[in-house]
Amino acid sequence: MKKITTLIASVALGISVFASQAIAETKGVVGISMPTKTSTRWISDGETMEKLFKEAGYEPDLQFADDDIPNQLAQIENMVTKGAKVLVIGAIDGTTLSDILQKAADAGVKVIAYDRLIRDSGNVDYYATFDNFQVGVLQATSLVDGLKAKFPDTKPWNVELFGGSPDDNNAFFFYDGAMSILQPMIDSGEIVVKSGQQGMEQVGTLRWDGTVAQARMENLLSSTYTEDKVHGVLSPYDGLSIGILSALKGVGYGSGDMAMPVVTGQDAELPSVKSILADEQYSTVFKDTRELAKVAVSMVDAVMEGKEPEVNDTKTYNNGVKVVPSHLLKPVAVDKSNIKDVMVSSGYYTAEQIDN
Ligand code: BGC
Repeated sequence: MKKITTLIASVALGISVFASQAIAETKGVVGISMPTKTSTRWISDGETMEKLFKEAGYEPDLQFADDDIPNQLAQIENMVTKGAKVLVIGAIDGTTLSDILQKAADAGVKVIAYDRLIRDSGNVDYYATFDNFQVGVLQATSLVDGLKAKFPDTKPWNVELFGGSPDDNNAFFFYDGAMSILQPMIDSGEIVVKSGQQGMEQVGTLRWDGTVAQARMENLLSSTYTEDKVHGVLSPYDGLSIGILSALKGVGYGSGDMAMPVVTGQDAELPSVKSILADEQYSTVFKDTRELAKVAVSMVDAVMEGKEPEVNDTKTYNNGVKVVPSHLLKPVAVDKSNIKDVMVSSGYYTAEQIDN
């Protein structure tokens, strides 16, 4: 019995020595703080980074914050306590992290803002994202293309506008990009926003919540579209688009003589890809999160080696304290004509995932 106990103890000791050697041999802990799991893109971002960081010899600590700000703060604090050398953060609310980032900076931890800019802090070293203004331009361009294709004889087109979460810096870039195309058409009378609701303070959707967008669309339909029809809806994110489409279907759009309005989106989430192929949602914007994860990993690598990461924008992203050097990737517009090709040939989805 004693022998067995000694054997177990020495095996356990061996394992723990081995484990600590393995940790000691990594290039260090990288904290990855993602905002939520409610949207599949963030799961994919997190998991891809986790995999790539492991392959590159780091010890990733991946946490999702359930769209709860205190939760995200606690998770980041914990990462700093555990000795993370770099933090990669997709913020829930870009303005809430200043205190914890000060602690991180005091401990010598570098910070990379992931996809969403972290505001009001000097302790943000780099920013990896997509060209967010261009996302909005692509959404509005596709909305207008759709209006021309689906409602060629209608003038003016009735369009309603939805914005993203007002605590997410990206939401303003998407909206401003879209309005750079739509505002001139509103001014010329080609497009009418019948509800009169314009501007992020009126059209923003807190926490990117699809049920909030659905409720707002239901209200717009009952307050403004009892006589007239709505022809287009600018939606900045697939999760909102699905809610908006439910509201539209609820009052009969998409059946009989009520044509489905042109509804845009973002992220190429699977339900939206299917919806586009079923002629419901009109388009989305594909942002390859695997590429963004690669950018973040190479930024971390550079920072850890004391080098400058590769950036391609040093002007656009002023976070209120400094302009954060950024690496912007290109978003891609997709609609029924190209979505299956783009998604399958990029390997983002398999044909089976799309068809089933
Ligand atoms: C991201 C979008 C996403 C949205 C909602 C934004 O910050 O850039 O890709 O659709 O958050 O999760």
